Order: sequence, then C-alpha cells, then structure tokens
Amino acid sequence: MNMGAEAASTLRMWTYYPELLSKPVPRYTSYPTAAEFGDTIGSADLEAALSQAHADVSLYVHIPFCETICWYCGCNTNRNNRAERLASYLDALHAEIALVGDLLPRSARVRRIAFGGGSPNAVTPVDFVRLMLSLTQAFCVEDPVISIEIDPRSMTTTWAETLASVGVRQASLGVQTFDAGVQAAIGRVQPLHLIESCTRMLQQAGASSINFDLMYGLPGQTLEMLQSTLERTVELSANRIALFGYAHVPHLITRQRRIDASALPNQEARFAMAAHGHDVLQGAGYTPVGFDHFALPGDPLAQATLSGRLARNFQGFTDDDAPILIGLGASAISSFTGLLAQNEKNTGRYQMMLSQGRLPATRGVARSDLDQARGQIIQDLLCRGSAVIAPALLREVQQSLAPFARRRLIEVDEGRLTLTPSALPYARVIAAVFDAYRAESARRFSAAV
Ligand code: SF4
Repeated sequence: MNMGAEAASTLRMWTYYPELLSKPVPRYTSYPTAAEFGDTIGSADLEAALSQAHADVSLYVHIPFCETICWYCGCNTNRNNRAERLASYLDALHAEIALVGDLLPRSARVRRIAFGGGSPNAVTPVDFVRLMLSLTQAFCVEDPVISIEIDPRSMTTTWAETLASVGVRQASLGVQTFDAGVQAAIGRVQPLHLIESCTRMLQQAGASSINFDLMYGLPGQTLEMLQSTLERTVELSANRIALFGYAHVPHLITRQRRIDASALPNQEARFAMAAHGHDVLQGAGYTPVGFDHFALPGDPLAQATLSGRLARNFQGFTDDDAPILIGLGASAISSFTGLLAQNEKNTGRYQMMLSQGRLPATRGVARSDLDQARGQIIQDLLCRGSAVIAPALLREVQQSLAPFARRRLIEVDEGRLTLTPSALPYARVIAAVFDAYRAESARRFSAAV
C-alpha cells in the first residue's frame, strides 16, 4: 500500500499551534480525574453505591502482573516472578468477586467483562477459567461481551484455545512499534513474527475484534518508522488501533528513567506523527474514533462513533454505554453516577483488606451534580465533537475559548459548542476549559499531543 499521498496532505489538515499545546492536560478517562481522588472515599461508600446498582453493569478485572516490565509503562503492574505471590493475589481477587457479588442487587445484569492489567495472560489459562467461573457464579451475567488485554510475548496455543472456549471475542495487543531499535529503547522487544502469530491465533480462536496499541513520540522514533509500523498493522488487519502519544513523566513513573530522554522527539515532531497517523489510517479505510482511536467500518467501535453512542471510560474510547462500571482487583476503579472509587493500589494491602472481609476501596471522589454536568460536556466534546453549554457557563469560559475561536478550531451557535475537523489534536485542551479542577499542578499530566 502506498501511503505517501495521504502523508503529504497531513499537515494541511492539522495546523500546529504550539502555544495551545504548552499546558499538559488530563486524558479525561473520567471526570473528575484520578488526580482529584482523595482518601475520604472508602469501603462504606463503595458498599452503598453497589447496593443501589440496579442498572446494566460492566466489570473490569485487573491483573497487575507481567512477564517482564516495559520501561515506558505507566500501569500498576509487577513482575510475575513468584508463583505464590500470584496465587495469593488470585485468592484475594476471588474473595472480592464473591463480596461484590453478594452486595449487588440481582437486578444488576453484567453485560461486559474486561480483563486488563498488567497482562491478564500472565496468569495460567486454568486460573483464567477459574476467574470466569467465579464471575458467573457471583453475578447475573447475561450474554456478556468479553475482552482481554494480551501480551503477545506470553501468548500460547493453550491460551488461544482457552479464550475460544470462554467466548472471548475482543482482544487488545500491546504492540507499540515494530521497529527493532525503538523496541530496544523502550525495553519491549517483540519481533514481527511474534505479533503475526499471536494475531493469527486470536483470529483462529474466534476473536472478531483485535486492537493494536501503538505509540508515537518514542525515543529515536521517526515519521518513517511510524509509517512502517502503521503499514504492518494495516496488513495484519487490526480491527481497532489506539495510537497514543508516549507520556514521559519519570518524576511520576520511576521505571521511565531507563528511557533516554534526549532521544525523544520534540513536540512539533510528535504533532507531525499524530497527524500523519491520523491521515494514514483514515486513508487505509479506518474510521477515526475520538482523538486517538481508529476502527474498521463494521467494528462495534466504529459503529458506536457513527451512531453517536461513543463513550469514554478508564480503558479509553469504548462502545460500552453501561452506566455502572465495577473495577475488581488492586487499583481498579469503579464508576457510578455519583461516585468514583478506586481500590487499594498496593497488592499486599489489597489482599489484607480482603482477608478481613472488607471491600478494598481506599480512594475516590463523590461526583456532585456540577461534576456530572461538566463531565458530560467533556465526554460529549471528546466523543462527539460537540456539546450543549448552559449560557452562564459559556459566559464564564468565553475568554478561555477565545484562542480556539480565533483559529477557527471551534464554533459556537445557539449554545452548542462544536469542534471543527482541524481541532482534533486540541480536543483535550478545549475539553480542559470545562474542567473546574485544572488550576492545580500541571506536572501530573501528559502533553496534549
Ligand atoms: S506488558 Fe503492558 S502492562 Fe506489562 S509492563 Fe509492558 S506495557 Fe506495562
């Protein structure tokens, strides 16, 4: 496939305004964001929210273990180097599943189950099947969409058979880049043939939607290297692609200190890569989903985008519109209309709380009506590119919106704010205008591109 023509048009579509990207902003996988979580929220708040959860529910199960730890990784995960450590964690996870299942009203139906981490395939296939059994015994599970994050380096035929037998239809692979030099620079070496065989195994196992996580802005990465990675991805027929900008925040994520900061592309190069990726994938037939996801037409994520049902949760852009998300496992976050509650991050303390029969929520935030209204605006802008704003709020943010209006990145008409097509790389910055908490430290967040 010749992707050069699409590449040439890239920067005509998106104009680089460095002054608009100077402030780091959250990714807004929730509002308020995790930066607003405090320790006033705990087990009792989660218990109260669970006991009133009568709607459709999605479950997220966190496995915080990996075979090896990648240097760039910001996830809550540990090296899977001791069998007994993993076994104690799984015992606690089973205990949490039973505890939450007891509290949840029988009218709450589980329609989705997502396994993430870490690497869920760091556990054995037998342990995975046991977890599925626990979930189906504890909850009213109704024909669920089951998805899993997979580390291609630990994928086996037994795993593929297990996923097929359980009915997993959606899988996400951590790929990041196919360039061997960049792989070495980020501590994640996985040759092309490994990704190819993993993809084939998943397809043969019946996975109808396979996502590739890719990254730009990596050390030593050039536009040509990114293009080559995108071409391989298209050739392998990934149904979905998440193209993230690497966030280098070694003051927060100490494992990133191993990455050579002097080899990182500057902001202008990152912008060019994001724009290039967008054009190349669109040119290859993918539907842009939000500001950094892409899906083939026919994939549920593309359909949700086109029908205006796209949502955003802790896993990124999603077609999951369940009003309640219950996170299970250390550091997992549960989301209810009026509450965000995060489980204890430390696996030892998480296990201790469960051994005492306590729900392991230790942090979070109550969502006020105002939070919910602002959260809806942010979600509408990021998922649908448009939001209705109350006149008083519009007046309040008029000055902050002026730089975007001047550059024709937004239009306001009869109380509706709409992002123009060239505003995509600025979507998070525009959404941040409606974030009442953002006067605080910017060091916690990543660059908008
Ligand atoms: S495999 Fe995934 S979760 Fe595990 S360390 Fe690497 S990037 Fe992080």
